Amino acid sequence: MMKKNINQNMISLIEYYKMIKLDTVISDLPINRVNKENTTDFILKKKEKLIILKKKIEQINNCNLKDVATKMVFSDGNSNSKIMLIGEGPGFQEDQTGVPFIGPAGKLLDKMLKAINLTRKNVYITNVVNYRPPNNRKPVKEEIDRYYPFLKLHIEIINPKILVLLGSTALQAIFGSEKKITKERGVWFKKKIGKCEPEIIVTFHPAFLIRQPEQKRYSWEDLKLIREKLNFLKFI
Ligand code: URA
Repeated sequence: MMKKNINQNMISLIEYYKMIKLDTVISDLPINRVNKENTTDFILKKKEKLIILKKKIEQINNCNLKDVATKMVFSDGNSNSKIMLIGEGPGFQEDQTGVPFIGPAGKLLDKMLKAINLTRKNVYITNVVNYRPPNNRKPVKEEIDRYYPFLKLHIEIINPKILVLLGSTALQAIFGSEKKITKERGVWFKKKIGKCEPEIIVTFHPAFLIRQPEQKRYSWEDLKLIREKLNFLKFI
């Protein structure tokens, strides 16, 4: 209860400071307009924005998913990473713990990341919907649309240079339902999402790969493309 109050007060304070542009008012230092990504100031602001976004999602009303879910599942990984992964929605274990990709699909995802020398500390992970769809069904269009404004904001805050869409629901959320994963996977796209314009690649969802392991060879091709891109951009 105490913690909740502190969080709420902090969020109102942050919003108030932003409104009156307090950092500009009290500081006599020149405003640093270059290389903001490397400053602690920028990192702090990102964390603050994430707290506010999380709070906004928690306050969502009239959501059939929220009504039956146990916990909200927000994100995992490194919010300063240049690589953002988007899954579908929480499963049973994620719903119990509030952490994305920690069940069987998450274990496979960790192995996929390891295969290209990445860990969760190098990437940022979220889902299209933040509450578990009953019986792990796919989110329907209405649910995808309801959460899209939050997802878009989430992408803008993280500002990834590489966006990895895991499965058809993430593909649908970003590009609409006309694109099919079997056709679009393994190809780089560029798309403006709000204020950011990451390079985007679609690959199979790890839960799909558990059901159809013979498709892993395609997933491996996609992972190699991601590794090549990271090397080319000299990220990690
Ligand atoms: N599948 C997803 O898409 N996301 C999770 O967090 C877990 C399983």
